[in-house]
Amino acid sequence: MPKIVAAESHLFELPLPEKMGDAKHGLHEHFELPIIRLTTDNGLEGVGYTYTGGVGGRAILAHLKHDLTPMLLGMETQDIQGLFEAMYWKTHYVGRGGAAGFAISAVDIALWDLKGKSEGRSLVQLAGGNSKTTRAYAGGIDLNFSTEKLLSNVKGYLDRGFEAVKIKVGRPDLAEDTARVAAIRTLIGPDRALMVDANYGFSRDEAKAASDAFAPYDVLWFEEPIDPEDIEGYAWLAEKTSIPLAQGENLHSANEFRQVIKNANVTYIQPDASNCGGISGWLEVALMAKKAGLTVCSHGMQELHVSLMSSQAHAGWMEVHSFPIEAYTKRQIHLENGLAVAPDEPGIGVEFIWEKLAPFEVH
Ligand SMILES: [Mg+2]
Repeated sequence: MPKIVAAESHLFELPLPEKMGDAKHGLHEHFELPIIRLTTDNGLEGVGYTYTGGVGGRAILAHLKHDLTPMLLGMETQDIQGLFEAMYWKTHYVGRGGAAGFAISAVDIALWDLKGKSEGRSLVQLAGGNSKTTRAYAGGIDLNFSTEKLLSNVKGYLDRGFEAVKIKVGRPDLAEDTARVAAIRTLIGPDRALMVDANYGFSRDEAKAASDAFAPYDVLWFEEPIDPEDIEGYAWLAEKTSIPLAQGENLHSANEFRQVIKNANVTYIQPDASNCGGISGWLEVALMAKKAGLTVCSHGMQELHVSLMSSQAHAGWMEVHSFPIEAYTKRQIHLENGLAVAPDEPGIGVEFIWEKLAPFEVH
């Protein structure tokens, strides 16, 4: 049984190509990428990672270095579930999500990478193997863009082959949001999917008014209209709008997902393996969604989620997020007839270009 003999953690602060805004987080100028590299005594390396919107990377790095690495060294790598639980309980008092949850997610992903490499199997095979492709949409962080720039941005997505797009909403004036949604619908035509994302910028009543205003434009889902923890609010809104609701990127523990799936009346659930317990956590949520008859989607880190989403029969649309992690990996997402194609090499299929990351390391 291979054992972990070394664990190396790094934090990178990566620039964004331009300033990107949403309703609740202001302008993003960079994002953070914590990475852990696990080496085993049979010479394999497993790489796992997470990311943030620019805050918390140092706390995640500290969890990786000081809390998780000491317990991982010398451990056998096969029992991922056992290691996951050990990490969960080790950090439980300060964790159950948060920075500790992001750190556990990174380690879990590295363990799955090792599993795939040692068994010679790709992540899509390990995770369920339903298909080799998944529906995908381009998710813009574009609330700060002028309508003209928004339209040219979305035109760029269509030129790249996307058949579905998501824009941010939550401008100060609802009429402005509505005009932007209408303009995008006109641009993409009636057959492509259009989603909107408020990043919980609305109150319950504002979200109700917004969904009434957006309804004529055939919106596939309304993402995070209100505070993701306001489960009763989601159930209330779902009764009052014809637009299906979506959320999940801010749920970081199995229990949070259980509560939302049971009580919030959302249609699309959007776990992110970078923060909900890695691949183990994502698959657990996917199973919960399947049992509840919901569609599982993903948020961020498309270079990894392409395999998880392809593996599941009840998958909806994978987000191709605007944080370009894949600018630092050997393989890029590519679309065939609007579908994103999963990698087929052993492991998670995400290999970083270390020389490209190096200038951005935080020391
Ligand atoms: Mg979102």
